[in-house]
Amino acid sequence: MKIRFWGVRGSIPTPPADDVIREKLRRALLRASPADISSEESIDRFIDSLPYSIRGTYGGNTTCLEVRTADDDLFIIDCGTGIRHLSTELMKGEFGRGQGVASILLTHTHWDHIQGIPFFVPFFVKGNRFHIYSPFSDIKKRVEYQQVFTHFPVNLDSMLATKEFFVIEKEAPFHLNGITILNKRMRHPGGAFGYRLEEDGRSFIFTSDCEFNIDEIDQIDSYRDFFWNADVVVFDTQYTFEEAIDKIDWGHSSASIAIDIALRFNVKRLLLFHHEPTYSDEKLESVLSNARTYLGMNARGRALLDIEIAREGVVIEL
Ligand SMILES: [Zn+2]
Ligand SMILES: [Zn+2]
Repeated sequence: MKIRFWGVRGSIPTPPADDVIREKLRRALLRASPADISSEESIDRFIDSLPYSIRGTYGGNTTCLEVRTADDDLFIIDCGTGIRHLSTELMKGEFGRGQGVASILLTHTHWDHIQGIPFFVPFFVKGNRFHIYSPFSDIKKRVEYQQVFTHFPVNLDSMLATKEFFVIEKEAPFHLNGITILNKRMRHPGGAFGYRLEEDGRSFIFTSDCEFNIDEIDQIDSYRDFFWNADVVVFDTQYTFEEAIDKIDWGHSSASIAIDIALRFNVKRLLLFHHEPTYSDEKLESVLSNARTYLGMNARGRALLDIEIAREGVVIEL
């Protein structure tokens, strides 16, 4: 499986404002020596040497992931604003000719997970075929409702690609294009589902918009089968530990609980995801650094688990 992140931000898109760009430029220039900017090559080397929070951004688009199977079948997980860039990429190939086929897995229908659909150009191209899966029994109605005329001028039916909706059984595995897919109900206002995708003995778990609390760590064993031995887990870590205590029932988790769960269930690689919209790139790096410190307090954990932060454009293979 090959997974590409197109949207990683939680709740609402966060395009960088001019003061953010200015601060990145300022911090970069403060670090530069005359030798760093003496030629085009040295400038490129200097930029590459900067912390990612200065030279780039973790991204402001809401949730969207592209998953490619070993046979290059396409799965899309959630349709936040990140899908607009995936759309551009797909239109260069068979989706631009009306010959594309993809499966879409939806975790839930909060805006930040579906708001890219009205701007997903492959949906407008006749001949493309999409199979949309969710455990919510009214999934078709939910997605259609986003595009009633009072909210958007083009309704879903007027987008000419074939779009078939499938309600999948809750917490029962099903098989599609050589992948075994298991969904798991997560605690989140209105409900949300995590997905575990397995191919050739490798497992990828996407669970955003899920709330786990430290008080309930002993009840977490009901999630054992879902998380057990996963190669990669993408986990909702919108809040810091302190915020998670203040925001009980808001439906999100923190990096520390994600690490506790990852260690408990033998996960090998953890990606922090659904970034808080008010967090700057520097703040996200401090979240990662605090998460690594927390992991470092556990010698076994340090040896077994990798932690990274999800960012737009990153591709992981497993
Ligand atoms: Zn969300
Ligand atoms: Zn949500």
